[in-house]
Formats: sequence, C-alpha cells, structure tokens
Amino acid sequence: RRELFERLKNERAVTIDGRRIDICVNSGDMESVRGLDMESCDGVGLFRTEFLYMAQDDYPTEEFQYEVYKELARKAGGKEVIIRTLDIGGDKQADYMKLPREQNPFLGYRAIRISLDRTEIFKTQLRAILRASAYGKVSIMFPMIVNLEELRRAKTFVEECKWELDKQDIPYDTEIRVGIMVETPAAVLLSDKLAEEADFFSIGTNDLIQYITATDRMNEHTQYLYKSCNLSVLRAVRMVAENAHRAGIPVGICGEAASDERMTYIWLGLGIDELSMVPSQASHIKYIVKHISQKEAEKTVQKVFEMDAADEVEQYLKERMADYE
Ligand code: PEP
Ligand code: MG
Repeated sequence: RRELFERLKNERAVTIDGRRIDICVNSGDMESVRGLDMESCDGVGLFRTEFLYMAQDDYPTEEFQYEVYKELARKAGGKEVIIRTLDIGGDKQADYMKLPREQNPFLGYRAIRISLDRTEIFKTQLRAILRASAYGKVSIMFPMIVNLEELRRAKTFVEECKWELDKQDIPYDTEIRVGIMVETPAAVLLSDKLAEEADFFSIGTNDLIQYITATDRMNEHTQYLYKSCNLSVLRAVRMVAENAHRAGIPVGICGEAASDERMTYIWLGLGIDELSMVPSQASHIKYIVKHISQKEAEKTVQKVFEMDAADEVEQYLKERMADYE
C-alpha cells in the first residue's frame, strides 16, 4: 500500500467526479523548510512560527525570521505558504518571554492575545513575513481569534508595517492575503462576520475540539471525549464552511483531523477546500480523495447528521473505510 500511495505522490487530489481538493503540508522551522518536497503538495497550509521562538534563548530578530520565511517562500516556487503568527502560550513556552504561570494556560495569555499586547514583537514578525512575501505567494494567518476587534486590530498592524516598508522602499506583496485560524467556538459562532473581513479560514481542529467539548487536548483521561467526529464539532465545521463560502472565501483544515483518513468523506462532503497535514500522510489522503466522489461524500454527511452519537459516526465511517483497506 505504501508503494501505491508513493505513486500518487506528485499527483493532484481530484475526486472521481472532478472536484479538486488542495492537499497541503504543515511545517515549522528551518529544518522542516529544507526537508519540504513542494512537488508533492499544493502548498504549505500552516507554518507554525512558534518553533523559531522556542529554539532560541532570545527573541528571533526580524532578519533571522526574514531569512527563514524567504527560504520558505522561495522553496514553494509560487505555491501558497500560509505563515501563522506566533502562537505561543498554552502548551508552548519560551523562558525568555517570561509568560505568567497560569491555572488554565489554554484559556489564558496565548497566541494573538500576546501579539496584540506585546506589539513590538508582533510588528517584528509581520515585517519579516511581509518582506518575505516579495519572494513567493505568502499569506498571513492569525491564531486563536475570538472576535472581530482582534482581527481588525491585527490587520491594522499589518497595514502599519506595510506603510513603514513603503517609506523605506522595501518590497513586499501588496496583494498579500490575511486569514485566520478558526479554532475557538467564539470564532465559529461569529464566522459569518469574520468571513467578511478575512481572506481565508483555516480550521484548527486540535484546539477547536478541545474548546467545543471542554476536553483538554493533552489529558489522557478524557481522550474518549476528544473526537473529531463529535457531532457538535461536525456542526461547527459545517457552519464555518457555509459561512466561508457564502462570503466567497476558501476554508481549509490544518489540525490533525485533516490527516485522519476516516474523516476525508466528511471534510469533502462539508465542502472543505483544502486539507493541510504532516507530509507523511499526504499521499494517503490523496489516494482516498481520488477514489471517492463528491456526491457520495455529500450523501455520507447527510447520513451522519441524522445520527445521535460520535461512536455511531465513528463506526459508520470505519465501515465505509473498509473498502480502502
Ligand atoms: C490546531 O489547533 O488545530 C492547530 C493546527 O494549531 P496548533 O496545533 O498549533 O494549536
Ligand atoms: Mg491551535
């Protein structure tokens, strides 16, 4: 089977009835940039920049970040790379940042909240990303958005940085797209309004499942509740996809659930445009996409929404997947 998948490596993922899905990869530091095989994917759907911050004893400089992002943009050769701004806090720490010890780190000072508070760090990163955008198709993505004010404020910093670069005659992509992670219930419920002001959505199922089901993603005792086929999670994804498409923006998934082959039917059926995952799973998911039809996927989704429990959904999807084993 590995060989079978291997043969699909450089092919695009198109369903039997002709719907194309972008299969992208997640990446995170200079080493993973060097290892990227851009022939075998449609782009980088999530570049986690926090690894650059965690690997050092001090804040990474604009110059250092610029070199990494530039290499990434160049390597992608015109394919889109989505660079997510710093998502530190929660389970990810860098000592020099002296983040407060918190009782509920996942509900605390993390991600965009830190960027909008420590704005010099945010601007340093945005300038580096913007400068790199002169070398490829770079997009900016904000993590953990919970309301419109955050998105608007974050975007004003992008505009401020552009203005500064203009003044210094430093080139960047003036058409750069700015999107958000949809990974909080607040963003899901507000996705109609957020879609009017974001250029794209990427659903972060790792966090979204945790926040919707009130289940710590790291807690082994509650893993039985932490499921991507949880009906509330599926309703959330449906809502986000519908609102994105109504506003004419694309929607992807960049959490682990994107690479779960049992869920591929569901993501297709819900109209997800892009799946971004660990590179090692990409060919497998392509294989699945190439063997199912969009029509069939939509029927599967209809059926699943008539069910009452995640276990029932799981069992049904498992049976469907038996055809591919
Ligand atoms: C997610 O939450 O699904 C996600 C992709 O972000 P991270 O795993 O980095 O929190
Ligand atoms: Mg997340």
